[in-house]
Amino acid sequence: MPNSLLIEHNRQQFPKSVVRLAPGIWSAIGFAASNMHLVEGQSSVTIIDTTESTKAAENVQAAFLKRTSKPVGRIIYTHSHRDHISGARVFAPDNDIPIIASATFNSDLVQIDQDAIAPNRALGLRTQAQFGFGLSHEERVSLGCGPGDRPMEGLGAGFLEPTERIVADCEIDLDGVTARLILAPGETADHMLVWLPEQQVLFSGDNWYHAFPNLYAIRGTPYRDFKAWADSLDLMAGIGAEVLAPGHTLPVTGKDRIYEVLTTTRDAILYVMEYTADGMDRGMSMNDIAASITLPDELADKPWLGEYYGKIGWSARAYAAGTLGWYDGNPTQLGTMSDADRATQLATLAGGTAALFKAAQATQDLQWRLELCDHLIALGEPAEGMKAEALVALAETEINATARNTYLWEAKRLRGDGEGKG
Ligand SMILES: [Zn+2]
Repeated sequence: MPNSLLIEHNRQQFPKSVVRLAPGIWSAIGFAASNMHLVEGQSSVTIIDTTESTKAAENVQAAFLKRTSKPVGRIIYTHSHRDHISGARVFAPDNDIPIIASATFNSDLVQIDQDAIAPNRALGLRTQAQFGFGLSHEERVSLGCGPGDRPMEGLGAGFLEPTERIVADCEIDLDGVTARLILAPGETADHMLVWLPEQQVLFSGDNWYHAFPNLYAIRGTPYRDFKAWADSLDLMAGIGAEVLAPGHTLPVTGKDRIYEVLTTTRDAILYVMEYTADGMDRGMSMNDIAASITLPDELADKPWLGEYYGKIGWSARAYAAGTLGWYDGNPTQLGTMSDADRATQLATLAGGTAALFKAAQATQDLQWRLELCDHLIALGEPAEGMKAEALVALAETEINATARNTYLWEAKRLRGDGEGKG
């Protein structure tokens, strides 16, 4: 059975629905990995974000048409992640309306240069693993940031380039609805908040969602600026919104509640920075920092800081690597020993590869079993099946959806029936 908290998170946060945020303002939840929003103006509507696929965007379009049949006048992208920009063409088939984004908008959807020197294949496979491509619906219970079950047709197919790039905070008219566009780096450097002061609605993009922030995505992401994200959460808390409409998970209502979720998320990021910096200053190893960090009691019990999407230990590693780089100050790490050489030494200590194999079978500690399996595989021993079993067992206890999907995806690959085979 998958982790019950993860199942519950998925059930609570992604019910397929169109939620009314204020008169004429709607959010579509649970149709896709991300949310899409509609702001009704006098004779046209504004679409904020467009999901990851044309099929999901079409489904949302049909649901929105039940609320209003006014034509789409403009699209706003909160940021450049592909799960927010890939359904635009559904709403602008002739590409003849303004598409508004931050001036720093820099989408990896259009940026991947397959001829450039870059680990593009690794990124592709790890992305498949994180989002559980090729897993069954029963296996992929959640994306952490969205429902496990959503349409994949037209994935990444409907992106349209921004036509208006916002260089500084400004006010714009959404056909009779005043909006303030606020540049606020967070999950990406190109985040742009949309604030409707009359309706008191704040669209946060992915700078906030009901899960521990994904300060490091295991598909492989460059350093995300922790301090900038915390500062943006502070700025958002200061706005005093009555409705917070995130890029993923349900909207939050009530000024006090919104202040609480934003400031505690800010504090969680600052805590990871402080704990990690302090550990580094005291000469702790990266493994010990990552293994020992937990949120303090006053933050640990907040449901919206559950590690369904981001993970605290990974964040500590990302902060360390993003500030001082991969070296953790222990000169042992300056030398290099190949996996095969280390495994050979360990097997000798254990009394031979057969003894190492037995130890891997005997231990109840799944992480240790994985590590022993890696040594055996480095020695050319057939431990893939045992590793796959351990990964599946770990997946069932894991609260983090991206870890769960990755464990299950890799188990399939080891058994020779995964998407990323070969
Ligand atoms: Zn997103």
